[in-house]
Amino acid sequence: MHITDKNTCIEVENVSFRYDGDSVLENVTFSVNAGEYMGIIGPNGGGKTTLLKIILGLLEPTTGTVKIFGNEVGKSKKALLQIGYVPQRISRGDFHFPATVEEIVASGRTARRGLLKWFNKEDKTAIEEAMETTEITGYRNRSMNKLSGGEQQKVFIARALAGEPKILILDEPVVGVDITSQEKFYAFLQKINQQFGLTIIFVSHDIDVIAHQVKSVLCINRELVCHGSPKEFIKEEFMEKLYGKKVKFILHGH
Ligand code: ADP
Repeated sequence: MHITDKNTCIEVENVSFRYDGDSVLENVTFSVNAGEYMGIIGPNGGGKTTLLKIILGLLEPTTGTVKIFGNEVGKSKKALLQIGYVPQRISRGDFHFPATVEEIVASGRTARRGLLKWFNKEDKTAIEEAMETTEITGYRNRSMNKLSGGEQQKVFIARALAGEPKILILDEPVVGVDITSQEKFYAFLQKINQQFGLTIIFVSHDIDVIAHQVKSVLCINRELVCHGSPKEFIKEEFMEKLYGKKVKFILHGH
């Protein structure tokens, strides 16, 4: 029997997934320690978003299980309350409605509180703290459609943090954010990982970001290609398995 280590926050065991008979994930097994800062990388169509959706309980695996702090996703509501999710920008839609920053952040508290219930003091504190951590308190009354891509990104992170998650999952977080803001964004993620011990997992296409930003890397191309440190990941054998050709990547010190 597999015994959950108390430092393990996510356990994915033998997860396979098929869309209409097409295999997207095959026997994927890995675990994530609490406090880890992990990047997920792999080619387009390799199954990264599908894997995130399974971890979030939005898709049921064809076989296998996912546990969050020992609670099985799909069987325990508790499992999902521990996760804050920041989806890809393209799936968020445009903000033509005049929602303010504060309203968007507060909506991240609803899953915990339940709909149609007034926020209590604890909820209000969590919302304030989420805005402070992401440094957006100054524009709380601004309308969402008046913000830059980088600022909007912080609002979505604040929304996820308002639910006081133990794990933060982000899908392609810097798409549409300019390069200078991208660097600040990763510094910010690193800060909240270290300061609050928050487990952070993000998907990225960018090998350079994966090689320099994270503590561990998960490579997915239908099956788990590797799970280890960035230095292990850039070995030629893994690159070839991921991208199907000989790719050499030289790790520059930053
Ligand atoms: P990635 O995030 O690594 O780009 P995805 O998890 O989005 O990969 O997709 C993995 C595979 O599953 C792709 O081949 C994609 O075409 C297929 N796929 C994704 N969503 C659906 C769907 N709703 N129906 C059928 N096939 C899908």
